[in-house]
Amino acid sequence: MSRQPSTLVTNIGELTTWDPERPSTEGAAFVIEDGKVAWTGPAVQAPAADTAYDVGGRAVIPGFVDSHSHLVFAGDRAEEFTARMAGQPYAAGGIRTTVRATRAASDEQLTSHVANLVQEMRRQGTTTLEIKSGYGLTVADEARSLAVAGQFTEDTTFLGAHVVPEGVTPEEYVDQVTGPMLEAAAPHAKWIDVFCETGAFDADQARVVLSAGIGRGLKPRMHANQLGAGPGVRLACELGLVAVDHCTYLSDDDITALRDSGTIATLLPGVEFSTKHPFPDGRALLEADVSIAIATDCNPGSCFTSSMPFCIALAVREMGLTPTEALAAATRGGAAALARDDVGSLLPGKRADFAVLDAPNHLHLAYRPGVPLVQETWVGGRRT
Ligand SMILES: [Zn+2]
Repeated sequence: MSRQPSTLVTNIGELTTWDPERPSTEGAAFVIEDGKVAWTGPAVQAPAADTAYDVGGRAVIPGFVDSHSHLVFAGDRAEEFTARMAGQPYAAGGIRTTVRATRAASDEQLTSHVANLVQEMRRQGTTTLEIKSGYGLTVADEARSLAVAGQFTEDTTFLGAHVVPEGVTPEEYVDQVTGPMLEAAAPHAKWIDVFCETGAFDADQARVVLSAGIGRGLKPRMHANQLGAGPGVRLACELGLVAVDHCTYLSDDDITALRDSGTIATLLPGVEFSTKHPFPDGRALLEADVSIAIATDCNPGSCFTSSMPFCIALAVREMGLTPTEALAAATRGGAAALARDDVGSLLPGKRADFAVLDAPNHLHLAYRPGVPLVQETWVGGRRT
């Protein structure tokens, strides 16, 4: 076993670590050792390292943690998007179009498509991601979707309960999802998820699905309150979920439940952008002491972006967050939403996952929307 040489990262315009005392500082440096952050502090006090890496006055931020994506699919739905922009509403049933294409694709096609999307995310600064199944909706297709996802992340999520496929009743399908499909999926999955929404699964069905997953050793998470008000967020809080995702339509009771349970509200602003739904009020959540995360929800139907910087810009423009709050939600917030304590910040002991921005500070992520500011992405102390 040879040890990696240590690296001192220097000449950083602004370093964001999420140190509670100094979240972002100028004139800072940090040391990478064995793939982790070994030291951070003022550059003038930096300890000796085997090599030095000069970032030329650019900003360094923790790598993005995208806690919600649906990368295992085939085909696209650009025409459906175009129709929505012309005024047609989004409906959950469009998922079935992708299900047909995904079932028809080979394992190799699915794998290379996911690899391309993961590469696209890396180029935009994402260093940790979650990937869901949910476009197979048969025992075999859900299991192989998760096996593909597992080649790219440890955070794989079984979403057999995405929508009821054609040819079965909801009752029959919930029995399948909680029976043979769960058995086949569980060896490849860390999490279980359910789309609790009109047109997908109601709260009773969601409870049955999540309980079955918990019984099989999976950790529960949920899609809720995306297309309208409903019982999903309160169910997530009652069950003590780590995170509940979308939270587009929230009542005061929902917000109180989120605060009291500590369940993280994962906001997916690319979805509101791509479906023309109203953006949730991120500022109101923060002011109510609700913890938030931001993720892409990258999927072919309701939001086909892989860009965390784009989601940050939307959260600042449309959800009332400051650029610093949005970056925090997209890094340490995402890590918390995945119950990961090894990523999401650049404090000593964390994995050396970071992005070098071609910008003097992190404010530019929102200030310069649509501009490819991520110049380099490092994972585990290695440039990717
Ligand atoms: Zn989703």
